[in-house]
Amino acid sequence: MSLKRTVNDGLVARAAAVLPWRDGIYGHMSTARLPAGYPQFYASGEGARVRDVDGNEYVDLMCSWGPVVLGHRHPAVEAAAAAQARMGDTLDGPTVQIVELAELLTATARHADWAMFTKNGTDATTVCVMVARAATGRRNVLVAGGAYHGSAPWCTPRLDGTVEEDRSTFVPYDFNDLASAEAAVDRCGGDVAAVIVSPFRHDAGYDQELADPAFARGLRALCDRIGAALILDDVRAGFRLHHGGSWDPLGVLPDLSAWGKALGNGFAISAVTGTDALREAASRIFATGSYWFSAVAMSAALTTLTTLREQDGVAAMQRAGQRLRDGLDRQAAAHGLQILQTGPVQMPYMTFVDDPHKARLSLFGQEALRNGLFLHPTHNWFLSTAHTDEEIDRALEATDAAFSAVAHHVEELA
Ligand SMILES: *Cc1c(COP(=O)(O)O)cnc(C)c1O
Repeated sequence: MSLKRTVNDGLVARAAAVLPWRDGIYGHMSTARLPAGYPQFYASGEGARVRDVDGNEYVDLMCSWGPVVLGHRHPAVEAAAAAQARMGDTLDGPTVQIVELAELLTATARHADWAMFTKNGTDATTVCVMVARAATGRRNVLVAGGAYHGSAPWCTPRLDGTVEEDRSTFVPYDFNDLASAEAAVDRCGGDVAAVIVSPFRHDAGYDQELADPAFARGLRALCDRIGAALILDDVRAGFRLHHGGSWDPLGVLPDLSAWGKALGNGFAISAVTGTDALREAASRIFATGSYWFSAVAMSAALTTLTTLREQDGVAAMQRAGQRLRDGLDRQAAAHGLQILQTGPVQMPYMTFVDDPHKARLSLFGQEALRNGLFLHPTHNWFLSTAHTDEEIDRALEATDAAFSAVAHHVEELA
């Protein structure tokens, strides 16, 4: 690796002086979570490519960690947002788009009779929990161990800065283990406002796990039996697995859904949808924000959802994802390496078998990066509709080089 000080290094040093983190950035963007050599600062994105501040271009398999679902700077989304920006963004109240977007979401998600709009996924999951508590008058929320539902005190993965009371109503169960959810209900004597669940297990640092349909149906029946709300946290998977809700194909409809990420193709918007039975409770909670009614992101979301539907974006991402998965399998076999690919193909993740310290995976990420492919070694990847066959093939050139490097160093990486 070059010893030349990069623009990125300079910015990291400046950031470290004025932002409180040692590597200059926080949360999921922290390079502390990445192998050495990953850039921290970016300059631009176009379609399936991103460019860092040093001018290196990468095929982007992270899609800004989910939000970018039609590709960076999608022309129709940018045009819709720009047209609204000329009229005003944050006004004295919402624009017509809030009604149009609620109409569109309630027509799209089968369970949804109403929608409200927030900014981040954390806002949406938090509102879901508030609505469930307002509706039931109960306290506890069942949360799958290790699942990510946002960074508010009730759900943030690290306890620093929280108090015990923030978590005292947070009751763990295991994903895909219905008996553990039933035991959790018993532990809190039936005082359960909601069960929150992701459409599949996509916890960072682990292989992904699809939902067992019997587990999904069992959670639905459990919630019905005890009168708790089933909250589907579709913030990460929403609009990539299905144009409606991610459990729609399983025939399991939640009472409340949290949406975010892909909803605005990168513009800041998230949403909560719910059933008529929860409408009155939703109208009673006080939840709002200075920017929650901003019209630019709503315009972007309207165009994102209609474009995804018109182009059958889910099918396009599935095709691209299958091409990537097949290519990776072929390459790994050719290099004599055993890999495990998990999750839906449009939200792929890959690990090496027999790689307890993820040394192979780290080198794979670094070498992919050096060859012009941006992926994350310990977090699931995301495809967009901008991942054409050509972009996937370009990505596969980089992964072939990365596999080759891993195969070459496999002894030292034990
Ligand atoms: C990203 C994410 C959130 C939080 O969304 P933010 O916009 O980062 O607040 C919640 N749930 C899941 C499943 C997520 O992936």
